[in-house]
Amino acid sequence: MNNIRLAAIEQKTRTVIQVGPVRVGEDFVLIAGPCSVESEEQTLEIALAVKDAGANMLRGGAFKPRTSPYNFQGLGLKGLKILEKAREQTGLPVVSEVLDTRDVSWMCDYVDVLQIGARNMQNFALLKEVGKTQTPVLLKRGMFSTISEWLNCAEYILNEGNPNVILCERGIRTMETYTRNTLDLSAVAAVAELTHLPIIVDPTHATGKVSLILPMSLAAVASGTDGLIIEVHNDPKTALSDKDQALTPVQFLELSQKVHSLWEFVKGFS
Ligand code: PEP
Ligand code: MN
Repeated sequence: MNNIRLAAIEQKTRTVIQVGPVRVGEDFVLIAGPCSVESEEQTLEIALAVKDAGANMLRGGAFKPRTSPYNFQGLGLKGLKILEKAREQTGLPVVSEVLDTRDVSWMCDYVDVLQIGARNMQNFALLKEVGKTQTPVLLKRGMFSTISEWLNCAEYILNEGNPNVILCERGIRTMETYTRNTLDLSAVAAVAELTHLPIIVDPTHATGKVSLILPMSLAAVASGTDGLIIEVHNDPKTALSDKDQALTPVQFLELSQKVHSLWEFVKGFS
């Protein structure tokens, strides 16, 4: 594949990235939490629930890339402080999106993993900036991006000196409108044969529909993903972003139990 040098499988054995107690690329990674951090009560309640259900990292957006400027944009620093508190109370490492190059260095003090969202996958200035840190980066696939373009973006981060890149397939745009995006699970297998980097799957943004998240999570585990990232809300109908795709804690518990047992089974095939 063109110009994939540092990310190429020939360069290295599989990368394992330590995030708190979790070895990404080796352990099963289950990241869960709200789309947006909305308040301390909401985030702590969800964090405790997903931890009890078996999640090993917490997600939550403090800076939100919204389609409309009139929609909730996130709590910013206040949201990151809430996430810090949730990490203290649960021990879960925290994943949160960075939107702006000016926020990268100070955000590293608050989060364990910097998320680069689909809309910013090819924001090369942002990729270079996170590449100058050693904080693990969750690099989401752009909604219009080929696997090659995506891996070139990982290459930008690696080339700046940060080896800790986790890829995330979150669905791509096709002519299909029933689902929010189309989950490309062939990308999971393709990435495994092209690169040494770990990959996780986001069935929440891929489908946009609660009823499809469990089946696609199971399919993702069967495809060889290193983990999943799932949106969970204590009261989905009141969520300030992505309310139609958030699982309740009870739904998440069922998902967690099923994906963990499938993971144990699938391990026997690798
Ligand atoms: C998110 O994780 O809330 C998000 C905005 O995801 P994506 O960048 O994949 O749309
Ligand atoms: Mn979301």
